[in-house]
Amino acid sequence: MTGASELLTLRGHGPRRGDSLSNLGLIKDGALLVRDGVIAAVGTRAELEKLPEARGAEKLDLGGRVALPGFVDSHTHLVHAASRAEEYELKIAGASYEEIARKGGGILNSVKKLRATTSEALKKRALAALKQFAAHGTTTVEAKSGYGLDVASELKILRLHKELASEQPLEIASTFLGAHVVPEEYWGKAGGAERYIQLIEQNLLPEIGEKRLAEFCDVFCDRGAFTVEQSKRVLQAGRQWGLAPRLHAEQLSRTGAARLAILMRAASCDHLEQVNKSDIQALGKSDTVATLLPGCDFHLGLRQYAPARALIAAGAIVSLATDYNPGTSPTLSVSMILSLACTQLRMTAAEAIAAATINAAYALRREKSIGSLEVGKQADLAVFEVADYREIPYYFGVNHCWMTVKRGRVIHAPEQAAN
Ligand SMILES: [Zn+2]
Repeated sequence: MTGASELLTLRGHGPRRGDSLSNLGLIKDGALLVRDGVIAAVGTRAELEKLPEARGAEKLDLGGRVALPGFVDSHTHLVHAASRAEEYELKIAGASYEEIARKGGGILNSVKKLRATTSEALKKRALAALKQFAAHGTTTVEAKSGYGLDVASELKILRLHKELASEQPLEIASTFLGAHVVPEEYWGKAGGAERYIQLIEQNLLPEIGEKRLAEFCDVFCDRGAFTVEQSKRVLQAGRQWGLAPRLHAEQLSRTGAARLAILMRAASCDHLEQVNKSDIQALGKSDTVATLLPGCDFHLGLRQYAPARALIAAGAIVSLATDYNPGTSPTLSVSMILSLACTQLRMTAAEAIAAATINAAYALRREKSIGSLEVGKQADLAVFEVADYREIPYYFGVNHCWMTVKRGRVIHAPEQAAN
């Protein structure tokens, strides 16, 4: 692949913290040599043309566009049955997320719909979404369960993750989020949450662990969901079955979830709108990625975004993701998230791109295979119809992704390029 006006390699060791977050490893007039889906050489066009092994290679001209590692979307609720457009107007009229949840809306609304939907219908919807992810430059997607909340329905989602991973080109990291919220059938009963956690420990995790249906275990640790103690118990149980922890933390209220994530060496803690100064310092010293989800605040019309600048200054490994889900962030466009990161989180375009590629790969513990364009890594690329990388977040609300490549294979291309 040759003729990239700017090739953002994101090369270098370790996750990006502080000032290094804005180092894109940019090569002007860049080129890549790919063999068997893996990057064999990276450099300027002139450097690569000199390589003997490049001579017989099939040439793909990027026509002066900007190329970067495919986006790694490290937080999505991929499998769901339907939108929740009916709640949108309630939100606009001023009902809070929690008020809607108390009325049987929110997550439980999605649970009702998912339980009543066949696996085939869910699959069709997820496949259409994955196609859109690819069309927007994303090459790896994390996917959470959590809209099933009973044994059959949670397993239905996790089995779908596995099927989807093998039947379409995007890579899928499967996460078990059985502890999303306490399901309605346990409400108003003594020890309801406790009994539901027992179901997770005794009926769900053994099956998930044995069949390897998930890599990660996540908990929604917040007011109205699970406490820090309950979250710890679920994450520990998950770890016993080989599932690495990650957490929904400090979104609606500060609970101490970020501290729990650090204590448990979680891969990532996500949201973080409500973190305090000492949490920020602690995240700065930890290897747990701080994943920010500004699409959620934007969609809910909230004024308080996560303190990205303070987290970056403290040295935290800041990442960005869409939180694609029907209730709070119905977008699968990482470039839209980059626009929000720039305008609302005050991140620079370079910081936002590093957060959504190499640091997101750390959040999924895939930094050895994806997240940057370096020799030995998968040839996962997004090519944008722009001449300057800053135009990717600058043009908000428009998809300028021109081509997407996964493991060296073109998986999205404009019609003229596909012909
Ligand atoms: Zn989420």
